[in-house]
Amino acid sequence: MSQKYDAIVIGSGSNGIAAAIRLQQKGLKTAIFEQAATPGGATRTQELTLPGFKHDVGSAILPLGLASPFFRNLPLKDFGLEWIYPEIAYAHPFEDGTAYGCYKDIETTAAQLGEDRQAYLDLFSPLLENWDKIGGELLGPLGIPEHPLEFMKFGLKALPSAQMLVNHYFKNERSKIFFYGSAAHSTLPLTNIASASFGLVLTTSAHKFNWPFPKGGAGNFTKALLDYYKSLGGELFMNTWVEDIRDLPNAYAYMFDLTPKQLLKVRGLNFNSLYRRRMEAFNYGAGVFKMDWALSEPIPFASEKCRKAATIHIGFTKKEIENSEKEIHQKNITSTPYVLVAQHTPFDPSRAPTGKHTAWAYIHVPNGSTADFTEVIENQIERAAPGFKETILGRSTMNAVDLQHFDPNLIGGDINGGKQDITQLFTRPIAKLSPYATPDPRVYICSSSTPPGGGVHGMCGYHAAQKALKDHFQELL
Ligand SMILES: Cc1cc2nc3c(=O)[nH]c(=O)nc-3n(C[C@H](O)[C@H](O)[C@H](O)COP(=O)(O)OP(=O)(O)OC[C@H]3O[C@@H](n4cnc5c(N)ncnc54)[C@H](O)[C@@H]3O)c2cc1C
Repeated sequence: MSQKYDAIVIGSGSNGIAAAIRLQQKGLKTAIFEQAATPGGATRTQELTLPGFKHDVGSAILPLGLASPFFRNLPLKDFGLEWIYPEIAYAHPFEDGTAYGCYKDIETTAAQLGEDRQAYLDLFSPLLENWDKIGGELLGPLGIPEHPLEFMKFGLKALPSAQMLVNHYFKNERSKIFFYGSAAHSTLPLTNIASASFGLVLTTSAHKFNWPFPKGGAGNFTKALLDYYKSLGGELFMNTWVEDIRDLPNAYAYMFDLTPKQLLKVRGLNFNSLYRRRMEAFNYGAGVFKMDWALSEPIPFASEKCRKAATIHIGFTKKEIENSEKEIHQKNITSTPYVLVAQHTPFDPSRAPTGKHTAWAYIHVPNGSTADFTEVIENQIERAAPGFKETILGRSTMNAVDLQHFDPNLIGGDINGGKQDITQLFTRPIAKLSPYATPDPRVYICSSSTPPGGGVHGMCGYHAAQKALKDHFQELL
């Protein structure tokens, strides 16, 4: 049978586009089919509040987009991508109006921690020095590491829970809270094994790359990727919900940027019952409740460091953050949750009408929660930024179910394509030699439900494409 395409990608999230670019770069004829009217999956920018205010509906700060060994070598600048680097990668405010900031410079950052200065350097300096050796492997499937010693040293720090790690390294509550801010991106209880790994990778990336974001909106990252893809000859079809693989044109390989639950619903796939059962056992993680605001002025953070950072982690005591991240897994929300805030307009005025501002935030919530957490989120921000509520001109809220309507991959509001605990971190969606391949030799999974998981790095798509190349187009590798 003649093939219209060599490979077809289903879904235009950052991983789907990464897979399509990799295959197209190798000279294959590819196309992407996307169900939505706008491409990008959870990397899109829209006017959610008032006219002229541009909000990132999903991902907002893209350090992994810059750190990604695949994306960083693409000529995205030629396709309009402009990175914006805030002076401080992330800041963590305290109740007395002061804050710690994570600067690109590790010494400047450590100096804020007083008697924990040396411990901070001991924790992060070796990781920073070895990033070029282990970074690529951290953003890929389990395998035999090229630099086993450096990898093992990272593993020894990354395997404990965030709670064990901070208690081992730091004396002061503030140093511990500061680390918790980045570790809590894991969406895991901070007492869970390996929850430390997220704080280590994200903070090391802050010291290596800063935490930048695309000028004009995260949607501009998607646009640059797609414009580059099209320049290579790739094709994109929107508004096409793929329900049955037999409805698609013939191809040698089909790359699904979907999570297991969705993939199992696609008809015409040759999956055996054992594979189906194992995929059905895949676990999804907590959801998020997401807010965006149109503001009359920047968030009036009491601390100047928070005003100089694009990402702010809010949680005022160690216990407060620990409880917040523990309770969601028991289907509760505390009245003082850990809040992740992003503010772009102090550094990128193009996102709002002249003199006006936007802000973005979310908290972790039980998967599938439809409750409204507007008040608790705004109260937490108000504690760090007295007067915040008076700056609000308009707001948009999305509960966990709204998020899944926006992007069907966000099952129950889970933004990482599945729980990222120790059992699913490197072996997702199931433990097998290549997690990207399936029992149907034409079908691959390239979404964040494969290693290395959530985040806009495209490495799930890249590794899935490499596997499809190896299986079907060996001569091109
Ligand atoms: C609120 C929120 C905040 C986030 N913040 C950040 C952040 O700041 N930094 C960061 O790095 N990451 C962040 N993330 C995570 C990041 O956005 C995801 O990890 C990333 O988008 C995963 O990309 P993906 O390609 O695997 O899936 P997605 O981006 O979800 O794309 C999947 C695509 O497949 C399409 N699709 C699904 N089913 C079908 C079908 N049957 N037929 C056709 N098309 C289909 C969907 O419409 C979608 O376009 C955030 C996510 C959310 C939701």
